[in-house]
Amino acid sequence: SLNVPNHPIIPFIEGDGIGVDVTPAMQTVINAAVEKAYGGERKIVWCEIYAGGKANQIYGENTWLPDETLALIEEYHVAIKGPLMTPVGGGIRSLNVAMRQGLDLYNCLRPIRYYDGTPSPVKHPELVEMVIFRENSEDIYAGVEWKAGSPEADKVIKFLQDEMGVKKIRFSQDCGIGIKPVSKQGTQRLVRAALQYVIDNDRRSLTLVHKGNIMKFTEGAFKDWGYQVAKEFGAEPLDGGDWHKLINPKTGREIIIKDCIADAFLQEALLHPADYDVIATLNLNGDYISDALAAQVGGIGISPGANIGQQAAIFEATHGTAPKIAGQNKGNPGSLILSGEMMLRHLGWIEAADLVVNAVSKTIANKTVTFDFAEMLDGATLRSTSEFAQDIVG
Ligand code: ATP
Ligand code: MG
Repeated sequence: SLNVPNHPIIPFIEGDGIGVDVTPAMQTVINAAVEKAYGGERKIVWCEIYAGGKANQIYGENTWLPDETLALIEEYHVAIKGPLMTPVGGGIRSLNVAMRQGLDLYNCLRPIRYYDGTPSPVKHPELVEMVIFRENSEDIYAGVEWKAGSPEADKVIKFLQDEMGVKKIRFSQDCGIGIKPVSKQGTQRLVRAALQYVIDNDRRSLTLVHKGNIMKFTEGAFKDWGYQVAKEFGAEPLDGGDWHKLINPKTGREIIIKDCIADAFLQEALLHPADYDVIATLNLNGDYISDALAAQVGGIGISPGANIGQQAAIFEATHGTAPKIAGQNKGNPGSLILSGEMMLRHLGWIEAADLVVNAVSKTIANKTVTFDFAEMLDGATLRSTSEFAQDIVG
């Protein structure tokens, strides 16, 4: 656990596009909540660090993610960031992925929670209350892939055919190849974090979501290794299946550890959201699931997220740079504000975090909202980014 001083230095990345709008709004709300909760006793010392367009302006031509930025995040352990654009050319797939890999932030945490009054496409969005632990460092996101027709792809195909005896598929000339690594160590650190969260927060269940029926040695292994973690925590098998039961050592209440095939999960989470609570899943499944569930409770404009590792944690807006509305003081800062709330909780500043949740909740219930919500709500009052933040501060 963190040893947090009363005046912690928190590095922040403003972010590209809409970052100029939502980052100051987040800081306004977080500063006010800390002030209200602790008087002058605690205070965040914000320290701007650079990635994306701003880094490129400052550090020069081909630098989008300076080493210094990663070093500072590692040094201060906690950081918060706005959205980053992906530079065109230059061989970088995604700055977000580069940061996660550079700092080994293996856990992508996405709480899905409904704020009363949020426009939603489902009848009972208030039943959707889940926390997703998405493995963040493995799976096909490892970036090990070769273009169809390249000498590398052809070499891999030849190796598979000649050395590995792969006869099942007929490889054509135009066949891209991708590798899906899933390790026991990588799986278990993620599932451990998820199960510890269930215990600490007195949640009801942990569901391992996977496609083990098709991909036995990657997704299937994820499930098996996940249940091993449950056993490690003292869980006992339930009758006639894989499911396990664990008595929460802190509260004495029962925790169910279960699993679900990913496609069925997406259907179940829509039809019976109340049956699911904390989710642990692989990288690609987690990507789809995060957005699908977020859509039920108001979408990316309001969904917070964090990338957490052993050494550092980055709290971030889950949406992109939204270039069409960038710099217009228009976008919804909810996602980044609630990521800030997660950050306060991570620091152990629970009182301030609770103030943020209550204030966001009240503001949305009052229907004083940014354009994205206002256009879907009858009787809403349209607010700019900064006005919405001011409404939250009160
Ligand atoms: P990028 O290329 O960085 O992903 P994008 O425009 O695709 O940029 P997304 O966040 O993926 O950014 O945006 C999808 C849609 O949602 C866009 O129409 C965008 O304007 C809108 N949007 C994104 N974030 C917000 C926000 N915070 N408030 C309101 N609308 C948003
Ligand atoms: Mg996008």
